[in-house]
Amino acid sequence: MIKVILKKGRDESLRRFHPWVFSGAIAQIQGHPHEGDIVAVHSAEGEFLASGHYQIGSIAVRVLSFSGDPLSPDFWTIAIERARLEREALGLPSPQTNCFRLVHGEGDGLPGLIIDWYDGVCVLQAHSVGMFRAKKSICEALQAVFGDSLKAVYDKSSSTAPFKAGLELVDGYLYQAPSFAGAETCVLENGHSFMVNWEEGQKTGFFLDQRDNRYLVGKYAPGRRVLNLFCYTGGFSIYALEGGAAQVDSVDSSAKAMALVDRNVALTGKADRHNSFCTDAIDFLSATPEGKYDLIIVDPPAFAKHRGALNNALRAYQRLNAAAISRVSPGGLVFTFSCSQVVDKITFAQLVFSAAAQTGRSVRIVDRLCQGGDHPVSIYHPEGEYLKGLLLYVE
Ligand code: SAH
Repeated sequence: MIKVILKKGRDESLRRFHPWVFSGAIAQIQGHPHEGDIVAVHSAEGEFLASGHYQIGSIAVRVLSFSGDPLSPDFWTIAIERARLEREALGLPSPQTNCFRLVHGEGDGLPGLIIDWYDGVCVLQAHSVGMFRAKKSICEALQAVFGDSLKAVYDKSSSTAPFKAGLELVDGYLYQAPSFAGAETCVLENGHSFMVNWEEGQKTGFFLDQRDNRYLVGKYAPGRRVLNLFCYTGGFSIYALEGGAAQVDSVDSSAKAMALVDRNVALTGKADRHNSFCTDAIDFLSATPEGKYDLIIVDPPAFAKHRGALNNALRAYQRLNAAAISRVSPGGLVFTFSCSQVVDKITFAQLVFSAAAQTGRSVRIVDRLCQGGDHPVSIYHPEGEYLKGLLLYVE
């Protein structure tokens, strides 16, 4: 294994199990690793600290193991089985929920790898060269762990793997069992049915991280008039309808997403209480009269994808939140979220505070929301906590 030697005093974060080695911490690389090779990281004093995937860029090594041994031949099988056991501990899958995140990058000790499970179909997204190159081994490990319950493995890394690395990025199936029935599948989440198409949909096809928050929307929906902004395929809308909302309006600018919303609403048999709007959510909200809705969900895409875009993103989040808070009916609820990794929990709370102050309404935080437990956060990698939300009661 090629050795990466750290500068003196730059070994502290690895000793605390943080899984990234920044290029600025490296004193010397003994040899010429290719991107995606597994390298051994040593302290300036020569002590072995970790091994992981090498990549050109600010994060030079993504750690796969902190133990002294080189990666064992069954590394991937053990790693997938550990991830499966954590989901099993959370009751996933269950008769009510057959879709969930099986591998959540750093949270599962596998930096750069996402695998979502849709009733036996695994959709894999590699975010690093190393994980992209390892996808065949990962697929074999999935087969070994899940046996006959695995229907297919679909690699959807073309939009996530680093394009500069010159990889051949073509999405496709790495494995298909005879039981595989095609990309369009009806999955169950908390007993609600959703059409998912991982080949055509955004990300891996469905936003699985909102499962617990959707459940809460269902709980607070009875009798309320609900507005679901940035609804994608209507996750929150379906829970609201099934939960007994008086009326649900869903808004997204993607026509493909809205077509799936209509199909998902049709599955509930409650289409008479639902309207779809394929339009800009901010324009829609601006044109919404005050008091028209009693529960508003604001779940925008990541406005800030990197630190440089942070200030503009914060202003956009603030305007959006002020518009929602000012329009919800007295005694209404606002579910507001940010999935930008660079907007931390405290910054998010501050911007919602500023938005509330701008409206002059009395606003109370009644719940704090985050990603589900199948999107775990390694305690050594707090950056993994990316989805933040607040439930507001607005007088
Ligand atoms: N709440 C969704 C996930 C939202 S993802 C769920 O539970 O599944 C963000 C969504 O915002 C995407 O579907 C994207 O199409 C949509 N979007 C992005 N910009 C938008 C805009 N300006 N107006 C309306 N929708 C927008």
